Amino acid sequence: MLILLNLDAPRKSIDAIKAKIVSQNCQPHEIPGESNLAVGITGPTHTLVEDDYRFMDSVVEVVRVSKKYKLVSRQMKKNDTIVKTNFGDIGGKELAVIAGPCSVESRDQIFRIAEEVKKLGIKFLRGGAYKPRSSPYAFRGLKEEGLKLLGEVRKEFGLGIVTEVLSPETIPLVEEVADIIQIGARNMQNFTLLDEVGKSKLPILLKRGLSATVEELLLSAEYIMAQGNFNVILCERGIRTFETATRNTLDLNAIPVIKKHSHLPVLVDPSHGVGIRDKIQPMALAGVAAGADGLIIEVHHDPDNALSDGTQTITPEQMKNILNKIKSLAPIVDREYN
Ligand code: PEP
Ligand code: MN
Repeated sequence: MLILLNLDAPRKSIDAIKAKIVSQNCQPHEIPGESNLAVGITGPTHTLVEDDYRFMDSVVEVVRVSKKYKLVSRQMKKNDTIVKTNFGDIGGKELAVIAGPCSVESRDQIFRIAEEVKKLGIKFLRGGAYKPRSSPYAFRGLKEEGLKLLGEVRKEFGLGIVTEVLSPETIPLVEEVADIIQIGARNMQNFTLLDEVGKSKLPILLKRGLSATVEELLLSAEYIMAQGNFNVILCERGIRTFETATRNTLDLNAIPVIKKHSHLPVLVDPSHGVGIRDKIQPMALAGVAAGADGLIIEVHHDPDNALSDGTQTITPEQMKNILNKIKSLAPIVDREYN
């Protein structure tokens, strides 16, 4: 359920509504909007009676949210969410770009790539320290050493760090160096982990599971938001289909569909979505054309020798070409990229 209040509702009235919600064993969530202040309600809302709230001070309207996901939904919040970080916004008119290697491999590697990423004018560096790998014998990341290197690179180049967390125990370590915490496709439905990152103050980049529906992705975002973390960025990174010509099938349909049902920003990851180096550019452009708020792309100075995901990783030069094309495309879809 959702309670809409006048924008100038006094704090006393808002608190009275929130106290009533809590007394009825539900949880209130304040959601600022452009034309109204909203108090979203989660929990056993079927027990609530609309009229108990409709006539309280400053209340404009009481709305039942029909979707399974509530806080994530456009019904709950009409205007797009803009996730703010120290390195720029994600979800506004300006397209966001995150680039960097699949994994942090060594000091030399991450410093070299960070320098190139910075030169390209990109604001966020990606790089996994904890790597979820299909084979236990594959390179599984430098772990704490990788985080330390990310911390150093952040300081040296002033880049926002995006890195994955695999387990609740390592969240505090990741929080020390990350500007955005990534939840990978394989953990999209790790509900314990979602609950825990929901308590973090940092934005969460939530990647769509390998065989998750859009509704399941949105319900996973709801887990994070229900814990109080409203800074969620969704990511379409391809799904498993019968097609074997590409690593995954980048589901571009999902972008306008998510935009209709949710106010959260959405990024496209063409690297994992297509899995083939020379197909990254067309799918990156297609993602932006479909309405994505930005891109996350795997970039390495020596993709052939990358310790993970080399076949889908592009060079800084190839990334530069993509950015040039994005600059021309952006105004056509009412976006900016500078
Ligand atoms: C990654 O970003 O390197 C990664 C492992 O992504 P995904 O979880 O989408 O497979
Ligand atoms: Mn990868």
